[in-house]
Amino acid sequence: MTPEAALLRVIHCLDRSRASGFKTKAFVRALDVVQNTPADELESRAAADTLTDIDGIGASTAAVIADAMAGREPAYLVDLEATSQVEVSEKAQPYIDALRGDCHLHSTWSDGGAPIERMAATAIEIGHEYMVQTDHSARLTIAHGLNEDRLADQLDRIADVNTAIADAGHDFRVLSGMEVDILEDGKLDLSNDMLERLDVVVASVHSKLRMERQQMTERMLMAIASPHVDILGHCTGRMIGKRPPSDFDADYVFAACTEFGTAVEINCRPERLDPPRDLMRLAVDHGCMFTIDTDAHATGQMEWQSLGCDRAADVGVPIDRVLNTLPADELLAWTASAAA
Ligand SMILES: [Zn+2]
Ligand SMILES: [Zn+2]
Repeated sequence: MTPEAALLRVIHCLDRSRASGFKTKAFVRALDVVQNTPADELESRAAADTLTDIDGIGASTAAVIADAMAGREPAYLVDLEATSQVEVSEKAQPYIDALRGDCHLHSTWSDGGAPIERMAATAIEIGHEYMVQTDHSARLTIAHGLNEDRLADQLDRIADVNTAIADAGHDFRVLSGMEVDILEDGKLDLSNDMLERLDVVVASVHSKLRMERQQMTERMLMAIASPHVDILGHCTGRMIGKRPPSDFDADYVFAACTEFGTAVEINCRPERLDPPRDLMRLAVDHGCMFTIDTDAHATGQMEWQSLGCDRAADVGVPIDRVLNTLPADELLAWTASAAA
């Protein structure tokens, strides 16, 4: 294991275990140092035990680097691998077994921590057959949302990544997409021309979450009714313990999702777990389709799908109504027909 691989794996495990951002940042910084320091300098410093003299390398990160350079599995990592496991419960297992992909993921193109190719490598390791790259749209400036030019560049990049994946012999595809903001008037934060080019579109509310009920309902209905929208992202916008769910008429919203072929996302992020269970039950009753998505902003977070699976099992979401259990071609056929 190279020092770089060891540090990347530590970062992955810290992210999946919801470790503090402070701890993760130390390893991200160390990774940056390792990537920009000549190998012979690292070697001589590891031998002389002076790694910590480099700015950005502390005791824990130095130990991981030194272990890796000595050909030992880093002790810190061995411990972390064991303590950071994401448990898959018995009830979640059938969903986990059925899932073939993840339809909501961020990369360094917006506010994620890993480039597309590293997210894809992780998805392959998890056993996925595809992932949808859904970075933020331009309006979310705080998250470095992509304008149309950058999105066009990203589509080129995704094509290159797919070529590299195929050349490496993997049966895996990165599908194109975006998490498009639902603007205050219900319009989407992306032109129809660009929406047309994407394989899968997730639409989410990120602003004015406290909007009055009637207005919020209409705003969401507009987006759901768009022929380009395939998935309604984290519908209530709640942050557990921090922000209450938005107020909207869930009967109208879920009826519209069924009518217009828009899937309801079961967002797996531990601070979101959105929709709440009562709304999930309502969406099941309305006959909605679902996706179980991690909304991962780092590779380790792609392991959080079991959190959504637990909840899907709790409320009895039929597995055949979970879109990302479909093979990629069937998912694409669904998103294309839902757009008709
Ligand atoms: Zn979002
Ligand atoms: Zn997101």
